[in-house]
Amino acid sequence: MMERFDHFMTRANAAYYAARDPFADFVTAPEISQVFGELLGGWAKIVWEMMGVRGQKMLVEAGPGRGVMMADMLRVFGPAEVHFIEMSLRLREEQAEHVPGAVWHDTLADVPERPMILIANEFLDALPVRQFVRRAEGWMERYVEAGAYVEVPAEQKLPDDPIGSVREVNEAAAAFVREVARRRAIGLLIDYGPENSGTGESVQAIRDSKYADPLAEPGTSDLTAHVDFAALAQAAHVQGPVKQNAFLTSLGLFQRTDFLASKNPEKAEKLRLAARRLTAPEAMGSLFKVMAVCPEGFQPLPGFKGWPA
Ligand code: SAH
Repeated sequence: MMERFDHFMTRANAAYYAARDPFADFVTAPEISQVFGELLGGWAKIVWEMMGVRGQKMLVEAGPGRGVMMADMLRVFGPAEVHFIEMSLRLREEQAEHVPGAVWHDTLADVPERPMILIANEFLDALPVRQFVRRAEGWMERYVEAGAYVEVPAEQKLPDDPIGSVREVNEAAAAFVREVARRRAIGLLIDYGPENSGTGESVQAIRDSKYADPLAEPGTSDLTAHVDFAALAQAAHVQGPVKQNAFLTSLGLFQRTDFLASKNPEKAEKLRLAARRLTAPEAMGSLFKVMAVCPEGFQPLPGFKGWPA
């Protein structure tokens, strides 16, 4: 059976997240430091005031992992109705332990339409991309058959790149961003990807913190692709993207880290290392970007100082 690459990726990741513990394979920012979620909780608190809506506050998180980021956020944000978008039943159980009272949905479309702040860290990179390869005869689309790529003439119009170029298109991420915008929600998207769209293959499979063959044994490794923020910025009105280190530093990462370190000297070294890992350009500071979806004309959001450059 021949399967388009994005369909293969959807199926592989559904199997992966349903069965495996992703945190045995990779580490994410909220797992590195509680300060990450706390800063986002403070960000959301300010942004909720800026939205100027009364009544029950609503926070939505897409792909919450173990649920620790939302638990860290709520300590700073205060009480809120929490909605999680999560397909893995196994992860839902872990999320329930960290955030009792949360409500779960399969997709954003199922979340009630009310004023909301939506946050997603390392969610978009797990969504499936279509892959195209430029050959002498034109653009071909990648399919998977019996554990190998096959190429079929593409129906898409793509830029006239040099022969051998690869382009990835993330239709699911664009649809997600458009749905956030349609709801006039504020959405904070944190993920890794380049500043500008371009050619190149970014799909990778990670298993036990090591690269694996994306086509081998689907469901046993985490398949991700770099997020094309420039393409998403075309899909909706946005602020950013800015680099994660600029965003976290302007929200007070180092002040908060110093404060916690002075109160818990036994944890000081670990907290400082974590802050460095989140911000160092050679670690997560520069490849990771932060972008906010918001209604056109919305006031400048915290953390985006210096944008546009
Ligand atoms: N945000 C967390 C987890 C990142 S891993 C953290 O930073 O630690 C990706 C998360 O997205 C997992 O919770 C995974 O189950 C979820 N996920 C991946 N694809 C999804 C999809 N199509 N729909 C809903 N959830 C998805």
